[in-house]
Parts: sequence; structure tokens; C-alpha cells
Amino acid sequence: MEVTERGWVHSIRPLGKILFVVLRNRKGLVQLTFKKKDDEGLFKLAKTLNLEDVIEVRGIEVPDTISKIGREIIPKELKIISRAEQPLPIDVTGLTQALLPTRLEWRPLDLRKRENLAIFKVQASIVEAAEKFLREKGFIQVFTPAIIGGVSEGGADVFEVDYFGKKAFLRQDPQLHRQLLMVAGFEKIFEIGPSWRAEKSHTTRHLCEHRGIAIEMSFIKDEYDVIKLEEDLVHHIVSFVIRKNKEDLELLGVELEEPKKPFPILEFPEIYNILEKLGKKIPYGEDYDRESEVLLWKYVKKEYDNDFFFVNRFPFAVKPFYVMRVDEEPFWARSVDLLYKGLELSSGGQREHRYEKIIEQAKEKGISLDSIKWFVEHFKYGAPPHGGFNLGVERLTMQLLNIPNIREATLFPRDPERYLP
Ligand code: ATP
Ligand code: MG
Repeated sequence: MEVTERGWVHSIRPLGKILFVVLRNRKGLVQLTFKKKDDEGLFKLAKTLNLEDVIEVRGIEVPDTISKIGREIIPKELKIISRAEQPLPIDVTGLTQALLPTRLEWRPLDLRKRENLAIFKVQASIVEAAEKFLREKGFIQVFTPAIIGGVSEGGADVFEVDYFGKKAFLRQDPQLHRQLLMVAGFEKIFEIGPSWRAEKSHTTRHLCEHRGIAIEMSFIKDEYDVIKLEEDLVHHIVSFVIRKNKEDLELLGVELEEPKKPFPILEFPEIYNILEKLGKKIPYGEDYDRESEVLLWKYVKKEYDNDFFFVNRFPFAVKPFYVMRVDEEPFWARSVDLLYKGLELSSGGQREHRYEKIIEQAKEKGISLDSIKWFVEHFKYGAPPHGGFNLGVERLTMQLLNIPNIREATLFPRDPERYLP
């Protein structure tokens, strides 16, 4: 059968009067076997090929190839579309692995690695699965502003924007506008989009720009309704990836299992006891740290054989003003995190919808009421009980595929040192 393939020269192996060229494109690899005796002119042209040249080849597909590559074409025609200057700044085959900063410097070349394409195909599936699931459940997709006039949480780690001479900010989370849409009566919404953090953190899990799958829903009984939805959503996403990205997972050497439902729910203050038994003393009323996240994962793995778990009822003191506290025990908040393999994937829970309480809580946090007026005032005119969460897309990608650094789960990562390319 005659076929045409376009792509990049992945490897070249001359063997006297035969030349093996492997062509790589989105579909995978195919071996091109040029024989001198078949067509001398074509053979000569093929001899001029360099790694990463872009070519078009027309030829006959070998039906039962013995090539290890899996596919083989005997070319009849070769067009060199674009030459690649030599030497290449990084090795695209991945045989000699460059350091991450160099790879990111040459990210488009780095992304030519088939493993990288596989990572982002999985990431696309995560988003596709989430959208499908949420739409089917009646959630409306929305787009809230990225530029905001008022700061949502602390304020220290936001990027400032010059807004016609006035100070504006890039959102840290679409949270507050999502809540305003609950006040607007939208009931069930989701948003997939970026958030920004001007944090000079140099960890393997923080970016200055990341994306989230954020949802908000109204008329919930309490935060457990939100937990249930998130559990189903994540279960659906992972199952979808297992089905849809079989080849990608294989290429990446990742074995995925359907998550086990229900995901265990650990709650404060019991968490202090669990951690103490694991040899970690966290002062009562304080937030846990990074080490605790990993300890709790090991604990959940052993007790429940699950890589996922929720944490609920964080101390109000460590959460933002808009969370809902437990009325009978206001020390604790209906504030929920989801963790996967020892890393936080999302934060959320039930929000406070009662105007007086929001004001009271903001005052308690020392937030000037003037600065949140744009948000709070709307709650005076009828607000339903509601809650939601924001699930980090890059975090889920990295944990799902056991990627050690979040930058590798991001096409063009932005961190304190990097905003190019
Ligand atoms: P952490 O404590 O792990 O730094 P956070 O509590 O500051 O996270 P949230 O404000 O709760 O993060 O944001 C919701 C979700 O968005 C997080 O659970 C995470 O998945 C993702 N996320 C938040 N900040 C970042 C970041 N800097 N880089 C990548 N993902 C992030
Ligand atoms: Mg959080």
C-alpha cells in the first residue's frame, strides 16, 4: 500500500548500501529503508539527511515488517521540507538527558520527545474527562475574570497589573467570582483556567502560573456533598485516562489502577493524634506541613490501601475568611483538601453564605471591609448555601504519571526564574 508520512528525522543508521532512517511524528515512529540498488538518486538525497530535518516521504508500507520500530516504508519519493541546523542544542531522542533548565530553555525541541507528547495527551484527557463529567451532571462552563480589582486572600503573593494607572491583580483563584455566580443563581458551574501566584517558591510542586478545574455548587447540605462530587469526578478522570491513554501510559511506563471508592476522609482535630502516633507533633490549632502530607499518605496507604484521601475540618485560623465554620465548633472550618500520593491536589469545601458571618469572619482576620465590599455586599440580597473546590491540573498530571517535577507537567512553565520561552 502506498502511504505518505510527514515528520522529523528521529535517527539515522547507515549500513553500507542500505540507509535506515526513522521518521517521527505525532502518530509514532516509522522506519524508512533506503536501498542504493533501488534508486541511487533517492539514496544520495537520503544520505544528506540530518537529525530533526522535517521531511515528507511517499512510499510502500511493508506489510509484515521485521523492523523493531513496528512500521516500515520503502520510500519512492523524499522531500526535505526544512533542514535542522547541526549540532542540535539538546538530544531529542532522550538518550543523553539534558538537565531540566536546559530542556526548558529549548522546550519546543524538548517537547518533541515522544514521552513529552504522551504527558500532554494525558493532560488533555484529564481536562476532557472533567468537562464531560461535569457537563453531564448539569454544570455550566463559565469564564470569570483573570484581572481583579480586589485581592482575594492574603495579598502578598499576587501579581500586580497596571490597569490604566490603577492597581489591579491577577487572580490567585477564580474562587470569589465563582461564589458570586452562586449568588447569581447559576447553581452549578465549572471553570477550567489559569491562576497566578507571585510566590518565590522553588519547589518541585509550585508554579507561578497554574491551571485548575474549579467547580462551585449551590443548595448543598454541607461540605460532604462537595467531597462526594469531587470523589466521583476524580474517579471518572482516572478511569477515563486508563481507557483513553493506554499507549501513552505504556510509553511512560505508568501502571494506573482505578481509584478505590470511597476515598478515606481524615478530619481535624483527630489528625493531630494520627500524626503524633507517626512521630510528628503539630501544635493543636496549627496547620500541618509538607512532611505531614507524606506521613498521612503512608498512613492511609497502610490502613485503607488508597493513594487518595480527603482532609476535612481544618482550623479556621489557617483558612481564608470566606470558608464556612462549623457552627457548633467554630474553631474548625468546613474546609476540605484532596491529597493524592501525599500531595495536595485541591482545596475547597463549604463557603459561608450568611452576610453577617462573612463580615464577622473578615473582621476576625483583620481584613479591611472596604477591600472586600465588592464581594460581600452581594450576599445581602439572598445567597444559597454553596461550596466547591479548585483542583490543580498540573498537580494531578504529575501525580498520576509519577513525574518528579511539576515543570515537566507544564508545557511552558512559569517559575520565579523563568518566563521565556
Ligand atoms: P500548597 O499548600 O500545596 O502550596 P495551596 O493551598 O497554596 O497549595 P490552593 O490555594 O488551595 O493552593 O489552590 C488550589 C489548588 O491549586 C492546589 O490544591 C493545587 O492543586 C493548585 N495550586 C495552588 N498553587 C499552586 C502552584 N503555585 N503551582 C501549582 N499548582 C498550584
Ligand atoms: Mg490549599
